[in-house]
Amino acid sequence: FLDEIKAKDGVVNAYITVTEQEALERAEEVQKMIDSGELSDSPLAGVPVGIKDNISTKGIKTSCASKILGDFKPPYNAAVIDKLNKAGAVIIGKLNMDEFAMGSTSETSFYGPTKNPWDTEKVPGGSSGGAAAAVSAKEAPYALGSDTGGSIRQPASFCGVTGMKPTYGAVSRYGLIAYASSLDQIGPVAKDAADCAAIMDIICGKDEMDGTSLEVEHKGYLNSLSGNVDGLRIGIPKQCFGDGLNKDVKKSVLAVAETLKENGASVEEFDMTIIDYVVPTYYIIASAEASSNLSRFDGVKYGFRSENFDDLTDLYMSTRSEGFGEEVKRRILLGTFALSTGYYDAYYKKALQVKALIKQAFDEAYKKYDVILFPAAPTTAPKLGSSLSDPLKMYLSDIYTVSVNLAGLPGISVPCGFDEDGMPIGAQLVGAPLKDDVILNAAYTYQ
Ligand code: GLN
Repeated sequence: FLDEIKAKDGVVNAYITVTEQEALERAEEVQKMIDSGELSDSPLAGVPVGIKDNISTKGIKTSCASKILGDFKPPYNAAVIDKLNKAGAVIIGKLNMDEFAMGSTSETSFYGPTKNPWDTEKVPGGSSGGAAAAVSAKEAPYALGSDTGGSIRQPASFCGVTGMKPTYGAVSRYGLIAYASSLDQIGPVAKDAADCAAIMDIICGKDEMDGTSLEVEHKGYLNSLSGNVDGLRIGIPKQCFGDGLNKDVKKSVLAVAETLKENGASVEEFDMTIIDYVVPTYYIIASAEASSNLSRFDGVKYGFRSENFDDLTDLYMSTRSEGFGEEVKRRILLGTFALSTGYYDAYYKKALQVKALIKQAFDEAYKKYDVILFPAAPTTAPKLGSSLSDPLKMYLSDIYTVSVNLAGLPGISVPCGFDEDGMPIGAQLVGAPLKDDVILNAAYTYQ
């Protein structure tokens, strides 16, 4: 994998940091542990992994692809990193992303855009574009990404790999640098659902360092993959297949339903009219939380500090002006506005109310269905540079992913075909809370 990185990453730019030396030393150490039988029950022992650069790695630069974090090296590991290490994983580097995970193309990175390995003139999706591109280009066998509003599932679909956002709370967020805390989840990006299940077995579970993490009762995701979907009830929300959906995407995603039907599942269309409100609701809530979370980057505690300042307030202002990119500043402004006196009720409070309605709509649907199927994105990967000038258009392209975060549900994107230019398409399978095993098995059966 290090050789693949050397051969391809000059163009793909999936990695911000490659930890070659540490990885080779760690691999020797893990090999000894494997030889002594210590890691015999760990299927991922010795397997390299790339980590999105917003997940804290002790002593390894963690930048969130932002200038403001400079060469910041966290003094501790995220919970998921400790878990991976215990399972014998070998971290080979930190992956590129949209700055602070804000974006859908991985073009807002301070370290330059990641390219889609299928066509390097196109974006890999975002914000975990580095993770999806690395797995797709075989620069890593699997990766950990984060998903606040689609950032694992959408790039997975653009790059022809499998990406999963677990149920909110299934995986500890301790050490994940926060974007929107009520929506953020860490999850796997891998070749297929079976690999995702193996990774989930390692990273999920209650963590006392994250008050929102949940007790996950399961027999092991990997072991419970049966390849059997007999009797599985699949719901297809009509409103997710209307105008604005690319025809190749529509055809390929609906074909997934057919395949699962041939394997014994039942398929039915239903109405989900709330879909019109998910994007505005998401962007109010995510920006509001981001504006609060990002207030800690003030030039005092972490990384970059401006050299041009007269007093303390000026230090904060110059550091933030010089350290944050355009998109991050836009979100901070939007979020601060939505939370300000006089506007809070009209925007933030309203958005929370609609969020409750979105959750309700899904709860209703899960009385009738086990899995809801729709696309991961309305199109395949767009050309580099074509989205940046129109942020609203980019926000609207998140239509199929953000509701899953707002409702706290597990969702997985699986490759299901190609458009007429040969670019990959992803279908999304979404489950009820803590039914991560159900979507993994449906995805596994399909694959
Ligand atoms: N594209 C969405 C955003 O920009 C989702 C990002 C994410 O999931 N981190 O907010």
